This record gives sequence, structure tokens and C-alpha cells, in this order.
Amino acid sequence: MSDLTDKVRARAKELLESGEVKLVIGHARGTTPYRSRPHFASTPEQTADLIHDVTCATNLAVYVSKPKEKVAVIAKGCDARSLITIINEGQAERGNVVIVGVPCEGKLDEGGLLERLGFPRQVKAVREEGEEVVVEGTEGEVRVARDEVVMPNCTYCRARTPAVRDELIGDPVPAREEADSYPDLAELDAMTEAERAAFWHEQLSKCIRCYACRNACPSCFCPECFVDEYHPQWALHGGGQFRGNWMWNIGRAQHLAGRCSACGSCQRGCPVDIPLMLLNRWMERATNEAFDHLAGMSEEQKQLAALFRKAEAKVEHG
Ligand code: SF4
Ligand code: SF4
Ligand code: SF4
Repeated sequence: MSDLTDKVRARAKELLESGEVKLVIGHARGTTPYRSRPHFASTPEQTADLIHDVTCATNLAVYVSKPKEKVAVIAKGCDARSLITIINEGQAERGNVVIVGVPCEGKLDEGGLLERLGFPRQVKAVREEGEEVVVEGTEGEVRVARDEVVMPNCTYCRARTPAVRDELIGDPVPAREEADSYPDLAELDAMTEAERAAFWHEQLSKCIRCYACRNACPSCFCPECFVDEYHPQWALHGGGQFRGNWMWNIGRAQHLAGRCSACGSCQRGCPVDIPLMLLNRWMERATNEAFDHLAGMSEEQKQLAALFRKAEAKVEHG
């Protein structure tokens, strides 16, 4: 059991035993050793199932919706960014959310890991050792550099230590140097407008409109999403047709401008591998450059749409 898991369990138990919170939201082992699932502990005994390791990728802020009593969330940097964003948007009282921060050097991209390992392989356990992820399987042990198997967004994360938190379990880790330079957008930047349009036409044509991206996103909390409305019908229904898919994906990216924590949950959930993080990061760069605004990095932050001021810089891209 990892050191961080022990510490998370101990702190969660204390919080519940003292009555400081009614619920702790964290992770437990999932259906395979390289997956975790959300875990909701409401008694001290239930904290024994909590884990915290490289598999804990899900953004837990998605489970916080107007809590009536105090809840604690075991929060990575991106979870904390989302929590602050939804708190500032009235989806939870700050006093009802205890942000128990955990440092994070990247979480597993399960698909990438399996591809890297090659099939068929029976995975028995996954652990971190220094900068490596060690996979124990029936055919022995495989060591992979962590950066090769974490979610792409983790390799340029600016919140590896939660910027806003009530407490921190473990030692802080510095932000990635790449966080400000958007290396992931270099290929798109190098394209002409026509090439970029063709790229997105190809990608967005694959969308089957399952809305897994929406359901995984803490910032997508509207009781009725614009794509579910019939009067007026903003987007053609059903996947597989480009115009409706374009309206859906571009509309969603715009609604997420200045509200996205770059957690990667939407892309991770997409069954047809659309690189949604490119859209999100494109919007993040634009809002950061124009308004010096990054979602969820400060408690005092106002919503981007409530700033009512002119852009500070002209956005050069696109
Ligand atoms: S985006 Fe950052 S905080 Fe979130 S899982 Fe990746 S490295 Fe961790
Ligand atoms: S749009 Fe994607 S990356 Fe951004 S907060 Fe939502 S799920 Fe996370
Ligand atoms: S998860 Fe992927 S396929 Fe499903 S609606 Fe979102 S972009 Fe489309």
C-alpha cells in the first residue's frame, strides 16, 4: 500500500470520526489493477477502501453538486481547480467543501498503458517508483517512464500541487515548465486555417453524441444542456452528421472557456478518441492571453463571463 494511500485513509477517518465532515469523496480500486473508481465514505470504516495512486485519474469534482452538509474531497490539482470553479459559479457553498489536496505527478492513461504493454497481458498490480510506473504481470515486471503512460494533459499540468486547498497531504510538486508554452498545440498552430478546418472535420465527424465528455465534466452542470433542447433546437440530434457534431463540440468548448481545469476527463471518456483536450487547451490559451484568466487557480477569481472588460491582449492564434 502506498504512503499516500495510508495518509489519505488516516485523514479521511479523522475527518469522519470528528464529525467535521459527513462524507469523504475519494478513489477505491476499480475493476482492474490499473483502474480506480470513485468511493464515497460516510463512516470511518468505509475509509479502509480508499486508495491514492497513479490510477486515480477521475476528476472527483463532478460528484459535488450543491451539498447540504460538509463534504471532503481528496483533490488533485485539477480536481481543486474544478471545485473552485463550480463553487464560484454557485454550485456549492465554499464552507461545505473541504479540499484535501494531494500532490500529483500525472495519472495513468489506461489506453496508452495497454498499448505500450502490448496485448495479451494479464496485469496483476501497478505501482509508482520514482519517475517510473512498474507493471506486474503474469509475464513478469515491466518498467515504463511515467511520462510515457500518463494522460497527455498531465505532461503540461500547471496544478500538480492544488493551488487552492484547505490542507495538503504529502509534499508539494512544482508546476510543469511546459505549462505556459502550450507545446501540445504546436501541430495545430503550424497548420493553415484550411488544414485546421479539415483536421477538425475529420475528428468531429467521428462523434457519436454519447455525451460521455459532458457527463465526466464537473463544469457541465446545466439542468438542461443546449443540445437536449428542441425549442429552439440548437444542434441537429444524433451523431455521425458533421453539422450537428460541430455545433455540439464547438458549442461545448465555448461554454467551457475560462471554466475548464484541463483535467482530461472528457477526452479520457470519449469512446472514439477525439482529441478534445486540443479544443480545451486552445480555448484556455486564448482566454489566458486575452484576459489573464485560468480557471480555478484562485478563490478570489471572478467568472470569465462576469469580468465585463476588454481583452488585455490580442489573441494571435487561429
Ligand atoms: S492534470 Fe495535473 S493534477 Fe490533474 S491528473 Fe494530470 S498532473 Fe495530476
Ligand atoms: S472540459 Fe474536459 S478537461 Fe475541461 S474540466 Fe471538463 S472534463 Fe476536464
Ligand atoms: S464523448 Fe466523444 S463521441 Fe461522445 S459526445 Fe463527446 S466527443 Fe462525441
